[in-house]
Order: sequence, then structure tokens, then C-alpha cells
Amino acid sequence: MGSGTVPCCGWKLILTHPSPNFGPRRDGAVPDMVVVHYTAMMSADGACRTLCNPDNEVSAHYLIDEDGTLRSMVSEGMRAWHAGAGAWGAVTDVNSRSIGIELANSGACPFGLAQMDALVDLLHGITQRWAIRPERIIGHSDMAPGRKIDPGRKFDWRRLWLEGLGVWCDGTSSHDLPVDPEIFRDAAKAFGYPDVDDALLLDVVRMRFRPWHSGPLDAVDMHIATDLAERFPVDAPRLSA
Ligand SMILES: [Zn+2]
Repeated sequence: MGSGTVPCCGWKLILTHPSPNFGPRRDGAVPDMVVVHYTAMMSADGACRTLCNPDNEVSAHYLIDEDGTLRSMVSEGMRAWHAGAGAWGAVTDVNSRSIGIELANSGACPFGLAQMDALVDLLHGITQRWAIRPERIIGHSDMAPGRKIDPGRKFDWRRLWLEGLGVWCDGTSSHDLPVDPEIFRDAAKAFGYPDVDDALLLDVVRMRFRPWHSGPLDAVDMHIATDLAERFPVDAPRLSA
């Protein structure tokens, strides 16, 4: 199949690699989030076999090969089993509320252009079909800090943001912010991060927004967290468009 192309008949997508590992979304939920993963396996074919094997009880809606080939495995309306334990804001059953996308990647390599192009195409389609806001596109590590590290420090969140997908903040600010762990924690939680210890929270925020930085909490981290909380409060009521 051509890169990034989903065979589509109206709302019904034809699955190229159907997985038996899915169920109905609970409580009538519809997807309003996307969770991005990497497979942590050596080949896309191997990952596909794993995600389609009923013994494994794992799946995703989509798998994108390194060359950009898109494999569809679970219908978007169904609940795939990709997120597991974790939370984003008030959402604790992330599988019922999300669409899961696996990127074929061992975890050690950068994500190539063809694969990223296919992801961008797919995300444009999903966010339009389900009216999903950019800030509701998150990484597996965001909702499961300490348990998951994908899509990892090599994933280009800034590229997604430049495409109108996902959010970005580089931490630059014209004003100095006091470095205060409590304010950082409250802000990160207001953006959506779960309640975890301070060191883990700092690590997971940096994994996405400041991937190569280390050291103690500083003013740039403070700006990132407070800016995200202000612009994208996760559970704030919104008027629908
Ligand atoms: Zn994952």
C-alpha cells in the first residue's frame, strides 16, 4: 500500500492486517485521544505478528513500518489494547478513549522521513474524523511514566507540532520564573501528566519537550510546564465547536 494511504469507504476503514485483540469501547466512549508508541522490536513483520496473535492480548489500531507502509489492524471505533495502566488527566481507561499507533522502531534508531510522513498523514485523517484536538495527541510515556518510555527521546514532537498536530513548547521565555517543584508538579498535572514522584515527572516531561537535557529542575522546565498548563489545561470544560 502507498505510504500513508488508508483504504477507506466512508467511515469504514478496511483492515489490512486484522487483529483479534480488541473489544468495544466502554461506556459508549468515542476516541478523543491518540497515543503514539514504538514497537521496541527488530522488524515491523515481527511486531505485526505479535499484535495480531490472540495469545498476546495486545494490539494497536495502526502499525507504520519504517518505510512508511501503513498497516491497519483494529477499526478506529473499537477499543484496541495498546495503552494499559496509566492516565491522562481524568481519563484512566485510555484504551476506551484513544486510537493507538505503533511505529516500527527498535527504540535505538531515529524515525525516518517516510515513517514520519505516513504518521502525519494518518494523524491528519484521525484528528479530522474524530475532531481530536492537537494536545490530545500524546506519547505512551506521557500516560504511563516509569512503566513506558515510548516513543522515546528520538521522536520528533516538534515536527508534529509544525504540522498542526500535537503541541510544543521550547521553554524560552522573556521573564524569569521561580524554580519551584510544587508549581512544576501542579502545572504538569494540569496539562495531563499523572501523579508520580518529582524526579520521574521531570524525566517524563523532558523526554518529550527537552529530550537531551539533564540536571536539576530549572527555569526552562518551569516555563514549559506552566505554559502547557495555561494553554492546554487537560480537564478544563470546553465549548464544542
Ligand atoms: Zn507503547
